[in-house]
Amino acid sequence: VTGMLAMSRERAGSFIQDDILLASTFAIQASIALENARLYDDLNRFNQMLERMVEQRVDEINKAVSRLEKLDKNKSDFIQVAAHELRTPLTVIKGYMGMLKSAPPLQDNATLKMAMDGVLQGTDRLHQIVNSMLDVARLESQVLAPHLETITLGPVLRLIHKDYVEDLKARQLTLELDPDINSAPAIRADSELMQKALDNVVVNAIKFTPDGGTIHISASQVKGERGDVCEIRVKDTGIGIDDKDKEMIFEKLYQVGKVELHSSGRTKFKGGGPGLGLAIAAGIVKAHQGKIWCESEGHDEEKLPGSTFFIHVPLAK
Ligand code: ADP
Repeated sequence: VTGMLAMSRERAGSFIQDDILLASTFAIQASIALENARLYDDLNRFNQMLERMVEQRVDEINKAVSRLEKLDKNKSDFIQVAAHELRTPLTVIKGYMGMLKSAPPLQDNATLKMAMDGVLQGTDRLHQIVNSMLDVARLESQVLAPHLETITLGPVLRLIHKDYVEDLKARQLTLELDPDINSAPAIRADSELMQKALDNVVVNAIKFTPDGGTIHISASQVKGERGDVCEIRVKDTGIGIDDKDKEMIFEKLYQVGKVELHSSGRTKFKGGGPGLGLAIAAGIVKAHQGKIWCESEGHDEEKLPGSTFFIHVPLAK
């Protein structure tokens, strides 16, 4: 019941049919109007409640984002401080090792010479890791400005190939440079940085492809999001990458799988690194206004679906 409509008259007697009809029509209209007003009020209140809930959620999300940003900054600060702290003693060790290596008593002692080479190799690897840490820190603080010039990919990729000839042989891997690389368009890039970015992608292809596999590198001009670009593709026959990891692997320190199973070695199968390689590659590509991503049908260490890393870089003109 919405309400009641009462009518009275001065003279005795019943209302006529028309009066009753008019009154009931008015009553129906009035109850509809009242019902609409109530619904409108409910809706308004519901909207206000929703708005309050959304505001609350936005507030919570903002707090979570700033907390994550703070944690990320802590991570970056740690990388930077650790790299600087490690670099100084490392330089001292390398300097003295270099002196010891050429010391006369060592020249006639094969065992000591071998031990010295081992130590030097270890310090070189440590140096590479410290440099990667510094690269990440520089890329994050955007102090790394690429020195842009016109370069062709062939020589850069051949240099990378040359660096890994021994490792590829030891692991019976084939690294193929597609003939199309020679006809790939010239790009506008910092050759040293571009070599570093590609090196990180190639060394991963080596690390995550079991012995006997193949890594194929090709490049050509394609249509990008903002006009023509040069696309470089590094395709391997390795263990592949799950969808859930395809974006995260470009974050610093992100590694797929358990950290406890982490093994060391720059080109060993599934040899872990510090988890900085792809963050460096992505940072360099971004500094060139380029794009990097990977495609894979998933992670499977038996079926070996492989992965392909794509890099888009601007053309020379
Ligand atoms: P890391 O130092 O561990 O190699 P990266 O940043 O270079 O760090 O790579 C992050 C992770 O991405 C690797 O630990 C690996 O799990 C995954 N990954 C990178 N490249 C490949 C690849 N070609 N095939 C399979 N997994 C890969």
